[in-house]
Amino acid sequence: MKKICALVLLIALLLCGCAERAPVEREIFAMDTLMTLRVWGDEEDASAAVAEINRLDALLSVTEESSAVSMLNRDGAATLDEDTLLLLQTAVEISRRTDGAFDPTVYPLVEAWGFTTDERHVPSQDDMEAALALVGVGQLRFDGNTVALSNHGTLDFGGIAKGYTAQKVAELLQSRGVVTAFLSLGGNVQTLGSKPDGAPWLVGIADPENPSQAIGCFRFYDSLALVTSGGYQRYFEDGGVRYHHILDPNTGYPADSGLASVTVLARDGATADGLSTALFVMGMEKATALWRESEDFEAVFITEDGGIFATDGAASLLTECAFTVIER
Ligand code: ADP
Ligand code: MG
Repeated sequence: MKKICALVLLIALLLCGCAERAPVEREIFAMDTLMTLRVWGDEEDASAAVAEINRLDALLSVTEESSAVSMLNRDGAATLDEDTLLLLQTAVEISRRTDGAFDPTVYPLVEAWGFTTDERHVPSQDDMEAALALVGVGQLRFDGNTVALSNHGTLDFGGIAKGYTAQKVAELLQSRGVVTAFLSLGGNVQTLGSKPDGAPWLVGIADPENPSQAIGCFRFYDSLALVTSGGYQRYFEDGGVRYHHILDPNTGYPADSGLASVTVLARDGATADGLSTALFVMGMEKATALWRESEDFEAVFITEDGGIFATDGAASLLTECAFTVIER
């Protein structure tokens, strides 16, 4: 009996030891941002995650000449690999859901503002009009896995690629038998499973006025994607005016919807990322209307005057700040 007890104890200790093992951590720079990964698995699992990020970085980048998206931008048509096609289809779906607030064909505008270079500037009226004429998902034609883009339009996955990548990495880790991971790809966080020690995941929302400080904190226990889009993330100033990198495809100008940031919570990483950009463009009223007719996301809005508004599902996870609940 004693022997059996000792064996049971040993197995229990081994199991606990495994479960509470410290995660393997990696920090890499990819997709123009710093990424940190915590993987409760072995070194090979973490390396596989890093390799997947690097693969998707090269595949989805508009500046990587050999990528399918570069080819499409250059030649007006391309046969797409599985990831690029899936990401483009997801982007088009989000564009349709948000009435074009999110638009993967926004790249001519991004270029007109010089956001792809070190020379950011307010475009001339002519450049702005020329760029605006090229924007719109209606210019995309799908034929199986071949896609054509008329009128020399161009694609940009900057508003959705990190969320898609986080999702793919979480799925890859899961297929390798990893049950717990915490992925932070720039402003995109994706958790897999729950923490082995039973503690909640804690994810802060940046204070738009002081982004290195958290204005509030989410506490939760399971798999979730959390993505923030804000005007404070990338911008330049000219004549005392701040111009940020999230553009309203309707006006061609940086979105000016009264919001300082939007955080979207969703099960799917690409959806969370695409919607965070879109809701920031739409503003709180239209974004709330979309939320009321949707089942797949929750959101927290921070207004330019510092108000915090959380949809009821997000509100139940939000702590350490005062906020107004948006009821369904
Ligand atoms: P970040 O990538 O900085 O975390 P977002 O996910 O909001 O923030 O994406 C912003 C990027 O998406 C821009 O840098 C640009 O490449 C692209 N973009 C800008 N405006 C739009 C838009 N209205 N729809 C889709 N993509 C956009
Ligand atoms: Mg986004």
